[in-house]
Amino acid sequence: MSTEINNIAVLTSGGDAPGMNAAIRAVTRTALYHGKRVFGVYRGYEGMIENDIVELSSSSVKHILALGGTFLKSARSQEFRTLEGRAKAAKNLRDRNIDALVVIGGDGSFTGALKLAEEHGIKVIGVPGTIDNDLFGTDYTIGYDTATNTVIESVDKIRDTASSHNRLFLVEVMGRDTGYIAASTGLATGALSIILPEKKNTYEELFSDLRSAQANKKTSNIIMVAEGNHLGDIFEIASAVRKEFPSIDVKVTTLGHTQRGGSPSTNDRVLASVLGHYAIKGLIEGREKVMSGMINQKVVFTPLEDAISKTTELDYEMLTIAKILAT
Ligand code: ATP
Repeated sequence: MSTEINNIAVLTSGGDAPGMNAAIRAVTRTALYHGKRVFGVYRGYEGMIENDIVELSSSSVKHILALGGTFLKSARSQEFRTLEGRAKAAKNLRDRNIDALVVIGGDGSFTGALKLAEEHGIKVIGVPGTIDNDLFGTDYTIGYDTATNTVIESVDKIRDTASSHNRLFLVEVMGRDTGYIAASTGLATGALSIILPEKKNTYEELFSDLRSAQANKKTSNIIMVAEGNHLGDIFEIASAVRKEFPSIDVKVTTLGHTQRGGSPSTNDRVLASVLGHYAIKGLIEGREKVMSGMINQKVVFTPLEDAISKTTELDYEMLTIAKILAT
C-alpha cells in the first residue's frame, strides 16, 4: 500500500454543525505544513460531482475559526448515491491528481466516502461533524457542545417566563434518531421529563411526572422533547397534556435550526482543531477508511464501517438523575 499522498481534498457534508470551519482550517493548515496541496470541495458531494473545487491556501481559511456553519457549504446529494454520480465525482478528483479526501460530516457522509474509496481507490478519512453526537468512536462529535449550549441558553429564558406565569413548556430539540441533545440539556435545565427516540416513553409516565410536580407545588415545568420520540409530534403531546390537565397553561416551543447556528464553543473549536489535525496525520501515516475521534481525551482512529454501524448507548443514568433532581 502506497502511503505517499500529495494532493488532499476536504469537504463538509450532511447537516452543518458549528466547528466545521475550525475543522476545515485544521485540515488545510496541517496538510500545508506537511507540504501537501489542499483542495476545498464546495457543497459536499454535489460540488464534487459538479467540479466545484478550488485549491486552498493558508489565507483561504483565515478568520473562519470563530464562524458557525461551513464556508465550503454543505449539501445532500441524491446523485452521489448512484454509481454514475460517484464515478463523475471521482473523475473530478483524479483530474487534479487528488489522492485523498477528508470528509467532515455524519454517518451518511461516511457511507458515501466508503463507497468512493471502494469503487475508485481514493483514500478517505472521516472527521465527525454533526450536532447529533450519534457516531461510534468518539465521546463527542463536532457541533454537539455548541448546540447544547444554544439549547440551554434558550431554555433558561423560557424558564423565566414559565415561572412568571405558572406555565408548562414543551421544548422540542433536534434528534431524529438519537436523544443525546435532549438528555443532556434536559438534565442541564432541570426538565421535569425527557422524551427520547431511544426510550418507549408513555403518557402514563409523563402524566405521573406532572402529578408529582403539582403535588410538590412546582410553579414552572419544562418537558424536553426530542423530535424523533415515539409519543408523537410535540403538538399532539401538548394536546394530550391539555386534555388530561385542563388547568395547566401548556405552551410549545420548537428551537429548530437555532441549534445548528452560532459561533462554536471552546470545546468544539478544540475538538475540531485536534481531529482535523489528526485526520491529516493519520493519512500521512497510511491510515484510511477510518474516522479520527476523541475518547477519554485521547485521539483514536475507528474504522468508518464501525463509526457508522455501531452505536454508543445513551447514558441512561442521566435520565434517572434528571428525574430525581427535578421532582
Ligand atoms: P447528519 O448526521 O448531520 O444528517 P449525514 O452525513 O448523516 O449528516 P446525510 O444526509 O445522511 O447526512 O448524508 C450526506 C450525503 O452523503 C448524502 O446527501 C449523500 O450524498 C451521501 N450519502 C449518504 N448515504 C449514502 C449512501 N448510502 N451511498 C452513497 N452516498 C451516500
